[in-house]
Amino acid sequence: SRQFTRPLNDLANQFNMILSAVAGADRVFQVIDEKEERLDEKNAGEVGEIQGDIQFQHVDFSYEDEQQTLSDITFEAKSGQTVALVGPTGAGKTTIISLLSRFYDPDSGQILLDGVDLKSVKRDSLRSRMGVVLQDATMFNTTIRENIRYGRLDATDAEVEQAARSAMAHDFITQLPGGYETVLDSDGKGVSHGQRQLLSIARAMIADPSLLILDEATSSIDTVTEMKINAGLTNLMKGRTSFVIAHRLHTIRSADVILVLQGGKIVEKGNHRTLMEQGGEYAALIRAQTSERTERGYG
Ligand code: ADP
Repeated sequence: SRQFTRPLNDLANQFNMILSAVAGADRVFQVIDEKEERLDEKNAGEVGEIQGDIQFQHVDFSYEDEQQTLSDITFEAKSGQTVALVGPTGAGKTTIISLLSRFYDPDSGQILLDGVDLKSVKRDSLRSRMGVVLQDATMFNTTIRENIRYGRLDATDAEVEQAARSAMAHDFITQLPGGYETVLDSDGKGVSHGQRQLLSIARAMIADPSLLILDEATSSIDTVTEMKINAGLTNLMKGRTSFVIAHRLHTIRSADVILVLQGGKIVEKGNHRTLMEQGGEYAALIRAQTSERTERGYG
């Protein structure tokens, strides 16, 4: 039974809404934190400098008693590695991320950060080390400069521009008539969907988190922008332990650890090469996706 049950949809909505709003997750999560803070264990500690080793050990979790949402989830991500979560809708990908961010705690099993049980870590402290890039990055009705700076409010203009360069956003920004001073609509009008993602990568970059959560876009993006997003994400993920809800072959292929999930269980685990050799679910999935792309003329 959950200690901090709230209407489940409400929580799911908060997760999506607030996470999509900001990338500098300490501020993202603050809103939710206020209620949850009192639920931290009495002697929960601050997260100091972290390596970013993450271990899930036999994690079971259910939202409701009748149905097991995650069963025996076990994997390890070493500091700086990328974990791709792959599987159909409802497989449990988001739930794994929710547990990692401590929106919920496991019913049994453990999640360790640098060998320390997440339960003994303060939520806001943990989340201040996490950055989030979601597929529908929310933009605020202010300049591009301030939209990027939202990742870390004390960042200088030079740091904003440096982050934009690493995120591969600088070129398109400077080609806009207003440059960094271009004011965005809150619905992002004025920049394309892909450009919004580049801005959200820049925003995460400036927050400089140790742990990254990425929810990849499924919507189609022009090839040039997609290449920039790939390069920007590669820069962002460098040296950070990253968890990607992955849809694109490019990301999945280059992940250190691929978790293939079905019905809340890990059915296959490995990197691209080992899983292709294994010739199971993953290999079938990739073959299907590859032929689909070839038919559409991308491959
Ligand atoms: P994925 O991200 O792979 O699509 P989810 O982790 O969102 O999968 O969902 C896993 C299962 O948990 C699904 O059956 C889903 O309906 C259920 N679920 C997700 N969120 C909630 C929630 N807040 N309350 C109850 N059930 C949920």
